[in-house]
Amino acid sequence: MKIAEEVKDAKSIGIGGHIRPDGDCVGACMALYLYLRKVFPEKPVELFLEQPSEVFRCIKDIDKIRTDVMEGGGCEEDFDVFIALDTVADRLGAAEPLFNRAERTINIDHHISNKGCGTVNFIDPHASSTSELVFRIIEEEKLDKEIAKAIYIGIVHDTGVFRYSNTSPETLAIASKLVAFGFDFSEVIEKTFYEKTYVQTLLLGRALLESILIMDGKCIVSGIEKKTLDFYHADAKDLEGIVSQLNQTRDVECTIFMYQTGVLEYKVSLRSKGKVDVAEIAVYFGGGGHMRAAGCTMNGTFYDVVNNLTLHIERQLKRAGME
Ligand code: AMP
Ligand code: MN
Ligand code: MN
Repeated sequence: MKIAEEVKDAKSIGIGGHIRPDGDCVGACMALYLYLRKVFPEKPVELFLEQPSEVFRCIKDIDKIRTDVMEGGGCEEDFDVFIALDTVADRLGAAEPLFNRAERTINIDHHISNKGCGTVNFIDPHASSTSELVFRIIEEEKLDKEIAKAIYIGIVHDTGVFRYSNTSPETLAIASKLVAFGFDFSEVIEKTFYEKTYVQTLLLGRALLESILIMDGKCIVSGIEKKTLDFYHADAKDLEGIVSQLNQTRDVECTIFMYQTGVLEYKVSLRSKGKVDVAEIAVYFGGGGHMRAAGCTMNGTFYDVVNNLTLHIERQLKRAGME
């Protein structure tokens, strides 16, 4: 698929990504936004995302994102084409009605749980990231330093800096073409991926210290309550990276990390080292994701959520001959 071909007749183009956008979502959306504005300067192109973490301010035109609409401002505009990136339509947040009202819709994603919700779908669960897919659908000769940097950030975030098994030879080949544009890739990795604020460091410390091992050490569990987030004046963006740090624990097969989003409501992140298919579990509870990284929102107390999840994890470990 070549995206320029798909949208060439559209008078207006909308772009959206999932709520609580991560690095891949921000990178993919920004790269496509910059590219479409470059190729079709005469067309109105608007990007709708919740306010990204401030670490992404190094991406050109990040301040052009229509966060106003996402924060409940509403939007009367209609778009000829609406493109949903890194998600299905129902996680577009306040941009979901714009997707539903558009004449044509395009869905670009790499989640195995996504069966495609657009008029046109480009879903590749083997791709490291949606940003990698954005690289594939744009014309290479139109790439520039700023677009390349946005794509690179997306790939870096979803592969854990080229570490996770979703990193393929193609991912690395693309990354090598991107760094050739000459942006400071080392600084990009440091500033957007590794560097933490002091509050983030404290929250990481608490989550590690308060973690518990269950299922004979095969599963590690931790969580952050809303009152803790409030105490530190922190939000979900300050919890990035905690789940992967927990999952690095030796002999752990599977990690559950959750933070409270409301009364008896938690956003759950699941990680696996390969034996447990956490996408299957997340989908069962109304979420989605990948085999080794998935998420969902669940109701109940912290322990209700743990009990409901461990039932499924135990069943899968048994299936893998580990119980
Ligand atoms: P997280 O644990 O939030 O880092 O998410 C891990 C992976 O699962 C990411 O690729 C997310 O996009 C995906 N994911 C998380 N929550 C959901 C959800 N409620 N529905 C679908 N996919 C999700
Ligand atoms: Mn994402
Ligand atoms: Mn992604």
